[in-house]
Amino acid sequence: MTIPPKSLVRRTPWPTSVSLPVVTPLQPSVVYASPDPDALDAQYADASGFTYAREGHPNAQVLARKIDMLEGATDGIITGSGMSAISAVFLGCLNAGDHVLGGDQLYGRTLRLMTQDLPRFGIETSLADPTDIAAMRAAVRPNTKMIVVEVVSNPTIRVADMPAIAALAAEVGALLVVDNTFTTPRSYRPFDNGADIVVHSVTKLLAGHSDATLGYVAAADPALRTAINDANVTWGLTPSPFDCWLAERGLHSFELRFDKAEATATKLADALSNAPGVKRVIYPTRPDHPDHNRAVGLLNGRGGNMLSFELTGGREAANAFTRAASEIAFAPTLGDVGTTLSHPASSSHRGLTPEGRIALGISEGFFRVSVGIEDADLLISEMTAAAATLT
Ligand SMILES: *Cc1c(COP(=O)(O)O)cnc(C)c1O
Repeated sequence: MTIPPKSLVRRTPWPTSVSLPVVTPLQPSVVYASPDPDALDAQYADASGFTYAREGHPNAQVLARKIDMLEGATDGIITGSGMSAISAVFLGCLNAGDHVLGGDQLYGRTLRLMTQDLPRFGIETSLADPTDIAAMRAAVRPNTKMIVVEVVSNPTIRVADMPAIAALAAEVGALLVVDNTFTTPRSYRPFDNGADIVVHSVTKLLAGHSDATLGYVAAADPALRTAINDANVTWGLTPSPFDCWLAERGLHSFELRFDKAEATATKLADALSNAPGVKRVIYPTRPDHPDHNRAVGLLNGRGGNMLSFELTGGREAANAFTRAASEIAFAPTLGDVGTTLSHPASSSHRGLTPEGRIALGISEGFFRVSVGIEDADLLISEMTAAAATLT
């Protein structure tokens, strides 16, 4: 059959079938054709269906509904990254003259956004220790519009005083924004605990395979949801269909992955705490965790997949450890199917002074581990063997 050249760009009808695919189709279309102007007009008027991919597309919607289920949210929004989820919240909800109070150990780029970028737009910001409610209360100002916290801090695994912070936010009329990336809805559900807005880096545990960069945001109040969605669409923070498709595929195994990684992390924490050359291990369900009682109460009895530990030696020991544990990816991310090891002093916290790092408890021998789903015994033997080379 000869196809006239001009017909190549005409749409070929999608083959129909009474039986339907069991897998979500990938829909990369940037634009959607309407039957006539009346239909298009009606569609814009009630914001139904799809018109242009930056405004929304099926793969983002399917993924959002699944994360909504986990978070007990309605109408969550997918964004192009975790940082764009946080940016959309700030851009959609804040005005010049507002004040934002943040936890002092938020994700590095969130800290940068608060300390360097928001002030350029006339928004005041300050930081306080979220494990210390008196410090949080003292940092509230008359114009505090928003309080931003992570339940478990990175990389020191400290647990914020969430019930007291939620009560404080309600008392002073501030929006409580919870970045639930570390904890995930498997350990903590912010909307059941007084949050107004929940954000995620879907890139991490939810998608779980280090192959898609995405974010998620949900707001309890539909008016806030609209404002955040408008910021997402207008500032162009929106996600790619392919990333959404990959993330939905990853999300199918999220609960299994989380439970497996957590079981391994629990064993690894104990094994490392007995290993020579290891000064301390930080893991929420261990009785020696600095916020142990709070962690047990808040996190549904769960420890999660993240743990940190400190070697007795300094940078030299850290170099030797990563070289000896060469099968474990030394990479500054978390939530991958494979275990990753990160060294905050040379990556996420390299911008701080050594004194600033020590004040947070981050020495040159400090490592954070994102435990994956590989065989627990294999991982534990690799890590303890690497520690044993140090002595
Ligand atoms: C990674 C991360 C982010 C940023 O997410 P990206 O998808 O990398 O933009 C925000 N918050 C926390 C807690 C994170 O771990």
